[in-house]
Amino acid sequence: MSIFSRIAAGEIPSYKVAADDRHFAFLDINPMAPGHTLVIPRREVDYLFDLTPQEYADLWAFAREVALKLKKAVPCKRVGVAVLGMEVPHAHIHLVPLQSESDMDFRAPKLSLPAEEMERIASAIASA
Ligand code: 5GP
Repeated sequence: MSIFSRIAAGEIPSYKVAADDRHFAFLDINPMAPGHTLVIPRREVDYLFDLTPQEYADLWAFAREVALKLKKAVPCKRVGVAVLGMEVPHAHIHLVPLQSESDMDFRAPKLSLPAEEMERIASAIASA
């Protein structure tokens, strides 16, 4: 079971942002910017493009809903989107609130926010 499957199953704690029966969204533990969110399909597939066409379309539709909430909850100019998958072999979409393009530099040092701040951000997104 991937670490993200265990997070979606509630076996490993996370700052949950949104979920339905086939998708789960939670804060990245080392965000590029406050509110950096990961969106995953519950079905464990490593490579995004190995999802079925329907699963792929549904994942992006779910990510869109999360991005709309994220934009309301975390002031930003845009919500940036990226797919890498170089670290965790469970397909996921990065949603990153951006003030400028430098907020989405995958080689820059990541943030480590206090638990209370992560909690506050996650619940603001969830209730947006
Ligand atoms: P990628 O696989 O797209 O290259 O990067 C994986 C992302 O998942 C990274 O941004 C990393 O910070 C995040 N990540 C890795 N392990 C965990 C974890 O256990 N919990 C959470 N919330 N995020 C994680």
